[in-house]
Amino acid sequence: MRRVFNAMIDRRPSMILRCAGVADVMQGVRFARTHQLPLSIHSGGHGVAGTAVCEGGLMLDISGMKGIRVDPEQRTAQAQAGLLLGEFDHETQAFGLATPLGIVSVTGIAGLTLGGGLGWLNGKYGLACDNMLAADVVTADGELLTASATEHDDLYWALRGGGGNFGVVTALTYQLHPVTTVLAGGLGFPPEQARDALRFYHDFASGAPDELSTAGSVARDAEGRPTVWIAVCYCGPLDEGERVLQPLRSFGRPVGGEIGPVPYQAFQCGADASMPPGRQHFWKSSYLTDLTDGAIEVLLEFAATIPSPYTGIGLQQMTGVASRMDPRATAFAHRDRQYDFLILSQWEDPADSDRNIDWTRRCFEAMRPYLKEAVYVNNLGDQEHDRVRAAYGVNYDRLAAVKARYDPENFFCLNHNIAPGVVI
Ligand SMILES: Cc1cc2nc3c(=O)[nH]c(=O)nc-3n(C[C@H](O)[C@H](O)[C@H](O)COP(=O)(O)OP(=O)(O)OC[C@H]3O[C@@H](n4cnc5c(N)ncnc54)[C@H](O)[C@@H]3O)c2cc1C
Repeated sequence: MRRVFNAMIDRRPSMILRCAGVADVMQGVRFARTHQLPLSIHSGGHGVAGTAVCEGGLMLDISGMKGIRVDPEQRTAQAQAGLLLGEFDHETQAFGLATPLGIVSVTGIAGLTLGGGLGWLNGKYGLACDNMLAADVVTADGELLTASATEHDDLYWALRGGGGNFGVVTALTYQLHPVTTVLAGGLGFPPEQARDALRFYHDFASGAPDELSTAGSVARDAEGRPTVWIAVCYCGPLDEGERVLQPLRSFGRPVGGEIGPVPYQAFQCGADASMPPGRQHFWKSSYLTDLTDGAIEVLLEFAATIPSPYTGIGLQQMTGVASRMDPRATAFAHRDRQYDFLILSQWEDPADSDRNIDWTRRCFEAMRPYLKEAVYVNNLGDQEHDRVRAAYGVNYDRLAAVKARYDPENFFCLNHNIAPGVVI
């Protein structure tokens, strides 16, 4: 129960409270306050920093809270915070509906949405947090509030990108959209085409319409040579999608993969096998707007020396609606047409940790000249406290003010922490 997705995290809470509902959450918060115990919040347990589990405190495990009610007429869903992405999609897809979430189906909806939530529908419908209409929250005094555009709107703003700083979210209400069959998949390009494939990917992604969300990635083949993968998801009329995808279909000579009509829910599980739970993970991440030739050379150089066959360097595109939002409209500040650049290092044997961590750090340092001074909060590792301000960007001070109003003593501090600031 104390194990989380990232096997590098090995913390031992004094207690684990397996919550069945809101009453348990309220009691857990009050108990931890009374006994001055550090409290961590475990939803899907996917956070790479492992903040879901604490050392010596109370771990509030809400992963068993999996209720969901879909309203097909209003196109909304109210979901308890223990649901995983695939479980949520399963219920909404029964009505031909979906909301933007992430790309691996066993990630928790709560941590993902509260930090932002970038996935295959971001171009057409925005981030997960942009589609969160309301949240039920147990605050530091153990009371239940609802935050929405009409109730506690300051808290509602902060929850859409501010992470787990403000309370325990027990349920989230989402806007849903009609999504059934998408035109989706990926194509793999061999070492001799890797450079051109990355150049092509950047051109292609830069001109993509809102219906098309894309991701590029660089990995290594069995001989240690760089390979490139281009994945796409078009959510719109399929014939129009075919026209949009034509340049990709006619580019180069892919050696693997396919693109075609696929049920959205099936595509949402497509990346699961490449990231099973229980591996060692060390990530470094930032945003990148321009995939220049210089950046491509660094990526290819480092891809050739990746120590683990499971590691990849991802360029998950933020585009369309997600990119055009005002950076101050929600707490998620980093709005731009750009890539969420992620060196996702994963390996199996703990004895290989030093080698993999060292390679990841060196690759990130080499890429730094091409990257922004910003990072997606949900990609931050457990030793990156110095980057927390960069994760909240222009919204940090306003978040600190909301924190001072709802959690002045910083009870919820086991997260990418915002210190209580001055109440505005
Ligand atoms: C394999 C993998 C794939 C991923 N893919 C994507 C992707 O495609 N797009 C994307 O945007 N992100 C992605 N992520 C990152 C993901 O968004 C974060 O890991 C997120 O924290 C996962 O949510 P969780 O509920 O599983 O987290 P947990 O580990 O349970 O929680 C992490 C933190 O989130 C906060 N939190 C969680 N639940 C609550 C709650 N109920 N109330 C208050 N605070 C809470 C707490 O601070 C907690 O410490 C991926 C991660 C992994 C490991």
